[in-house]
Amino acid sequence: MTPSGPGTGWIEVVTGPMFSGKSEELIRLLRRAAIAKKRLQVFKPAMDNRFSESEVVSHSKWRMASEAVERAEDIVKRLDPRTEIVGIDEAQFFDDDLPKVCSHLANLGKRVIVAGLDMDYQGVPFGPMPGLLALAEKVHKITAICTQCGEPASYTQRLTTSEKQVVVGAGEVYEARCRRCHEPEGGEQAEDSWLFPPDGVEES
Ligand code: ADP
Ligand code: ZN
Repeated sequence: MTPSGPGTGWIEVVTGPMFSGKSEELIRLLRRAAIAKKRLQVFKPAMDNRFSESEVVSHSKWRMASEAVERAEDIVKRLDPRTEIVGIDEAQFFDDDLPKVCSHLANLGKRVIVAGLDMDYQGVPFGPMPGLLALAEKVHKITAICTQCGEPASYTQRLTTSEKQVVVGAGEVYEARCRRCHEPEGGEQAEDSWLFPPDGVEES
């Protein structure tokens, strides 16, 4: 990725379903930046306490130190002016200010690398991700492996029936599925469904 000039910032997003390797890719890019002796800061939403309060951790147990923040604007408040690269994980859990915050950082000349789920378990675009994907200079949309058929998977299947959009958890609660094997109606119906109802079902 080449920015348009020296000192210019930009936004790149790593997105896809759970288990697609978003955290691994974020950590890989940040480790390379650290090898290049760049100054980094890594943030994640405070609510993502799946594995660790203070680290970004992948399902394969790669880990990297990070700062947990409540709101997107806290990233700006905690920013060290010397920081050259800002990493953000689990971006889908941030509030709607996240795209604006990332743009601000890029305008200050920072390289902003963001990882987050593009869709929730019902296939609905997740939180601030649509806006962020629109603003980003570069998007890596990656796939996992479908647990049912072995094809590339872009969807996250929830294996429990909870009404909450966010149930923080890993392998026992979610799995990766392809479009054909994904069953959004397995959970509660989304208010804002992005799918037409199955044949023979009346829309309410
Ligand atoms: P994400 O941040 O996208 O949820 P992670 O980076 O945390 O993904 O984890 C990716 C790792 O998860 C893979 O390298 C692999 O070891 C493991 N994994 C477990 N289940 C799957 C699956 N169905 N497809 C691909 N990788 C999987
Ligand atoms: Zn499948």
